[in-house]
Amino acid sequence: MPRVTDSVVIGVDLGGTNVRAAAFDEMGKPAGPRVESPSHARDGAPNTIDAIVAAIEQAKTDRDLAAVGMAVPGHIEGDLVRWAPNFGATIDGKFNCYRDVDLVSPIRDALKVPVKMGNDANVAALGEYWFGSGKGVAKGLALITIGTGIGTGIVLTPACVSGGLKRPTMLIGGNGGGVEFGHVVIVKDGDECSCGTRGCVEAYLGTNGLIRRAMPHIPEDVVLTPKLLADFADEGHKGAIEFWKETGEYLGVLLGNLINGFALEVIAIGGQIAKAYKHFLPTAVEVAGHNAIPTLWPDCKIVLADKVEDAGLLGASVLAWEAVE
Ligand SMILES: [Zn+2]
Repeated sequence: MPRVTDSVVIGVDLGGTNVRAAAFDEMGKPAGPRVESPSHARDGAPNTIDAIVAAIEQAKTDRDLAAVGMAVPGHIEGDLVRWAPNFGATIDGKFNCYRDVDLVSPIRDALKVPVKMGNDANVAALGEYWFGSGKGVAKGLALITIGTGIGTGIVLTPACVSGGLKRPTMLIGGNGGGVEFGHVVIVKDGDECSCGTRGCVEAYLGTNGLIRRAMPHIPEDVVLTPKLLADFADEGHKGAIEFWKETGEYLGVLLGNLINGFALEVIAIGGQIAKAYKHFLPTAVEVAGHNAIPTLWPDCKIVLADKVEDAGLLGASVLAWEAVE
């Protein structure tokens, strides 16, 4: 990127509820309709593959289709979904999630174009790098998506490695399953996490963790949601303000760790919870500043993600162009 071609690629963002697909040109500009339809995530892989192919067919334009890129939740290694806890099928009354499902070959065979797949959080970071706050020039970027879970992705650039990279590159780890900073431990023997261990970032910043932590701060008899907690803080509720400050402290620890580990130029924060940023981001930045090494801290910008909704689709389009080479 950039290149000169009349062809387009199609980016696919597969979620537990819907599959989205859209065509993009080589500059990341939308080149066709945006398609969204049910992903049938829990109805078995063949149904989900049919849903993906149908969405791609609908997203096609009259321009030549060069390749398809896909953002998929789970541990992705090459053409295989090694593990995806929210995708699978119920057999004899028991839900069996994806283990080593080839999600790429059937789509490649159906469409007769190259297809490349990546983990959704990693792919979103690639989209945010090229078309969002990374502007395609930052010396490394991390995207932290705070929602039900904590998604993290990192894009390294030639400046980030000794020995050379051809271009800005999505970090995936040795077996494709890496960059899970939502599951790094920030509190020893801390709260239980969905992954089965304790004290992970997600146990404190994922939606369930947020609500559990908020309860002692909110004496009112209400069903708490992140939105309500933000509304309370907007209204000056002392407990809610304290809760968000605590949230910022946990996030700040993660930010400091990322800065010291990777010395990235940009760390972007996105996801549903990020909408309440004014209540927690100043504290997070303050804590990160305390934790970061003095010569790394001034060279890192902590920003709100620019491509909040579309980072996955855009990143998938970048993967697709990589598949053409
Ligand atoms: Zn965990």
